[in-house]
Amino acid sequence: MTAIALENDLSQLPAGVRRWLDRTPAQFIAGAWQPGSTSLPAIEPSSGQVIASIAKGGIAEIDAAVAAARAALAAPAWRDAGPVAREALLHRLAALIEARADDLALLDTIDNGMPLWLARAVNVGGSVDVFRYYAGWPTKLAGRTVEVSAPPGMGRFQGLTRREPVGVVAAIVPWNVPLMMAAWKLAPALAAGCTIVLKPSEEASLSALALADLVEEAGFPAGVVNVVTGLGAEAGDALVRHPGVDKISFTGSTGTGRAIAREAGGSLKKLTLELGGKSPTILFGDADLDRAVVGAANAIFLNSGQVCVAGSRLYVEDNIHDEVVERLQTHIRTIPVGAGMRDGVFMGPLVSARQRDRVAAYLEAARVGGLGVDAASDFAGAPGFYVAPTLVTGARHDDPITQEEIFGPVLGIYRFSDEEELVRAANGTEFGLAASLWTRDIDRVHRVSSALQCGKVTVNAGGFPYPGLPEGGYKGSGFGRDLGPDAVEQCLQTKTLLLHVS
Ligand code: NAD
Repeated sequence: MTAIALENDLSQLPAGVRRWLDRTPAQFIAGAWQPGSTSLPAIEPSSGQVIASIAKGGIAEIDAAVAAARAALAAPAWRDAGPVAREALLHRLAALIEARADDLALLDTIDNGMPLWLARAVNVGGSVDVFRYYAGWPTKLAGRTVEVSAPPGMGRFQGLTRREPVGVVAAIVPWNVPLMMAAWKLAPALAAGCTIVLKPSEEASLSALALADLVEEAGFPAGVVNVVTGLGAEAGDALVRHPGVDKISFTGSTGTGRAIAREAGGSLKKLTLELGGKSPTILFGDADLDRAVVGAANAIFLNSGQVCVAGSRLYVEDNIHDEVVERLQTHIRTIPVGAGMRDGVFMGPLVSARQRDRVAAYLEAARVGGLGVDAASDFAGAPGFYVAPTLVTGARHDDPITQEEIFGPVLGIYRFSDEEELVRAANGTEFGLAASLWTRDIDRVHRVSSALQCGKVTVNAGGFPYPGLPEGGYKGSGFGRDLGPDAVEQCLQTKTLLLHVS
């Protein structure tokens, strides 16, 4: 494995990033910064050092933020702004993010651990694209006119439908791609005319707070976007339970998603859940192996496996299985692992000590259970939260390593010889988020992609999110969709007008 310096050098950070790190911990509520009475540390994953503090919000802060969002929903500045004004605001926000892209990327690199190139291209670049995509929506949202046959003697009627915002959206997001996860929630909700309380993850909140600065600068009316930082069990829980919230849009683990669904079921809040995955990558014997092996590796090792659609299970057809394993054993030793700001890094540390220890526990259990565990390197004693790219062979279908989302750079490899058996195994977890297929046989592409129970299938390439294409899960991976027309649709509700025409 290519080792690179394991710690970021924070001595030369740009002034703009420094200001974001050094600010007083505060919540962004009703267009103003309200200092928090208690705080949480923001920890830099390559060193384990504290680099900033964020406010630790709870019931009071959530109450204030939801009240601000409710007030903004009814205030003429937002309610009557109209679609062209909403588009202009979204475009302005996209331009401001683009102008600060380098600083925002650096901020998430030192808060979350991801390599700078990934932070810049996908996390920040993807956020700009998402705001631009949804900026196009407000002027295209439209109801219908419907010809109505009234009961005899009631006269003539006309039917109309109006599309109205669902109201106050509680957006709760994880830490794995911090700015982009926030953008996926904010952009469609704003396009629909909703107002928002965003609760970023306590593991990586800094870019959501920086985004609040840009929301303010873009000129969104006060209270349209509110950001409250804090723990999931406190701020997140208070937000989910708040009666002033109309819709919860949650991205995170399946366990938390279940708890939120129980609460939303009781209060009948609208709900979108983007949850975990255990996505299969499938290599058929006719695949272009040079591309497929690297594609399969990237599908799991990108962002150190902390990707909801990570290809964490690799199914390889019998006749190429041994060669693929050998090539992967070689390949993982060429993956440059190191601190995200360092040149040439492909994989950084995990986000936290807790996450590193969780992944390490899965690997230890696999070793104890007699599975083949091949790690490209050993980071024991390293300063940050590193786990090496690791291959696991010999796991059975029911083993935890096959069934549970690890959210780390761990690839389970399985052999198959029969297509039906393969489909059964690929579908055989509680999840159903994504899959990728590598084959030159177009009939097989159609057959297998329609048999897979998941929200997205990528063929002969590594997947990536595109703003116009929905992302989301089947089964335990959730319901509803982020991105595409679906996400804006889910932030709207329909009102029917039945008009008597004299
Ligand atoms: P998590 O469920 O621990 O936390 C996600 C968010 O929920 C955080 O902001 C957290 O503070 C909050 N939260 C935690 N407990 C809560 C509660 N009881 N009530 C309300 N909010 C609460 O998830 P994580 O560890 O931050 O993120 C990793 C998970 O996210 C993985 O399972 C991953 O697959 C999933 N994810 C899914 C997608 C997708 O599109 N499907 C995308 C990215 C990540």
